[in-house]
Amino acid sequence: MNAMTQARAPVQDIPHYRPTGDECTLFEMAHKNGLPLLLKGPTGCGKTRFVEHMAARLGQRLYTVACHDDLSAADLIGRYLLRGGATEWVDGPLTRAVREGAICYLDEVVEARKDVAVVLHPLTDDRRTLMIDRTGEELKAPPGFMLVASYNPGYQNVLKRMKPSTRQRFLAASFDFPDPETETAVVATESGLDAVRVAPMIRLAGRIRSLSGMDLEEGVSTRLLIYAATLVAGGMGLDRAIEAAVIEPLTDDEDVRTALRDLVATTW
Ligand code: ADP
Repeated sequence: MNAMTQARAPVQDIPHYRPTGDECTLFEMAHKNGLPLLLKGPTGCGKTRFVEHMAARLGQRLYTVACHDDLSAADLIGRYLLRGGATEWVDGPLTRAVREGAICYLDEVVEARKDVAVVLHPLTDDRRTLMIDRTGEELKAPPGFMLVASYNPGYQNVLKRMKPSTRQRFLAASFDFPDPETETAVVATESGLDAVRVAPMIRLAGRIRSLSGMDLEEGVSTRLLIYAATLVAGGMGLDRAIEAAVIEPLTDDEDVRTALRDLVATTW
C-alpha cells in the first residue's frame, strides 16, 4: 500500500506531543510540499517525539535512524547480503522510505560519515532522487516521502559541523526545552505524577539550565525530568529520585555534583 493512502492512526494511537509553537503547521506544510526539515536542539527536548507524533497524525510510516560516527551511506541505502548461498540486495531504511513514500528521520545526522551527505543532496533538492550506485537504480521519491533530520548545535565541534551546503537544503526549526507551564504538563502526562508535585522539579530544571560557569555540557533534559517524576510516582523520595535521574546523569564531577545538591536543597 502506498504510504499516501495509508489510514491515519486512530487518535489514541498518536504519540502524545504538546506543541510549543507553530512546529506542527511547519511540518505539515513541509510534508505537503515535499520539502526536507531539519530540527535543531538539545538532547531530550522532544524532537523525536514530535516526528513520531506528526508521522502518525499524517498517516505516514516512519523510519527512524539513530546516526552514529560509523554510519555510512550503505547503512542507509542498502547492500548485497549473502542469503542461502545467493547474494540478494536488501534495502536500507532510507531506500525503503523512498520506495514507500514514507517519512525518514535521521536523528543526530551530523554524527554520520561524510558519504551520507552525498546521498542526501539529490534527495533534498527538486530532483528528490535517491541514487543507488550498487544497483544502478535512480529512485524518484513519491509525494509522501519526507526527509527529516536533527542535530544538536551545542555538541558540535569543528570536525562534526553540518556543512552549509547540506544545511541550506532543509527548512529548519529550533527546538528548546518547553516553557515551565508546558514542561510541567508534559512531565505530568508522561510520568503520571500530578502537576503540583512536578512543579518543583521544573523550578529546579530552570535553575540548573540557567547556571553558567559550571562544568555542565548541557542543562537537564525533559527526558530526565520525566524519569525523576516516574520514580517519585512509583514511591521514591524526591531527593533520591533527583539524585538518580538528574544529578548522576548530568555529571561525573564530584564538585559539580555537590554544587547541584546545594542547589536542590535551596529549591524545595
Ligand atoms: P530528543 O529527540 O529531542 O532527544 P525526545 O523526543 O526523545 O527528545 O524527548 C524526550 C521525552 O520528552 C519524550 O519521550 C517525551 O516524553 C518528552 N517530551 C519532550 N517534549 C515534549 C512535548 N512537547 N510533548 C510531549 N512530550 C514531550
